[in-house]
Amino acid sequence: MVTYDQFTTHCEAVLGRMAQACQACGRSPSSVRLLPVTKTHPFEAAEYAHRFGLAAVGENRVQEAQVKRPQSPAGLRWELIGHLQSNKAKQALQAFDVLQSVDSAELAARLGRIATDLGLTREVYVQVNSGDDPAKFGCDLAEAPAVLEALLPHRSLNVVGLMAIAPLSDDPAVARRTFAELRRCRDDLETRFGVKLPELSMGMSGDLEIAIAEGSTCVRVGSALYGSRPVL
Ligand SMILES: *Cc1c(COP(=O)(O)O)cnc(C)c1O
Repeated sequence: MVTYDQFTTHCEAVLGRMAQACQACGRSPSSVRLLPVTKTHPFEAAEYAHRFGLAAVGENRVQEAQVKRPQSPAGLRWELIGHLQSNKAKQALQAFDVLQSVDSAELAARLGRIATDLGLTREVYVQVNSGDDPAKFGCDLAEAPAVLEALLPHRSLNVVGLMAIAPLSDDPAVARRTFAELRRCRDDLETRFGVKLPELSMGMSGDLEIAIAEGSTCVRVGSALYGSRPVL
């Protein structure tokens, strides 16, 4: 685990990369947020983010957030970025403020029902496998309308946009295509359903510049901030 001083140096470097990427494509730096990904790191990682002034952290497992969140500063927002099994829907709604990984109509309906029963309102993203990667979760591009349609009737869930992960590849064109497809999917859904989906969560440590050029509003960054993760 890095020290807080190292973390601030890394944060400034990542924010610098983001600002430069915004400038290169004529976007305002305030149009993209940095979501620090604290998964596998001790709970202090979330405290670092809070101390630095970042508003939220990303975690990919419900159980890990359930353990870390009570030890972490109140007022930090927790966002689920990993695959959610439907039998953990209730715990996920309780442990997270934002769910970025809603990837099926069944899960969407279940989350909506449970959130309503619990009296909770949550921001959600539809995760789309826009890189068509068999190793990644997310609904297929063709299923995205059905997932959105399942979310829209639930007033307990506020759909704000889409999320994608690019396939692992040495070719930057693969990430670019994945992100461009996600944006196109978002544009189509906005037209078809007459809704606003302003958020595109795409880009990580290795490909955030490409994601910003393609319209990302949220880059999810782990290793560039906290160092490499232990191999699990
Ligand atoms: C781990 C993870 C990240 C962060 O990846 P880095 O390459 O370490 O920046 C981003 N998004 C998701 C969904 C992740 O699981």
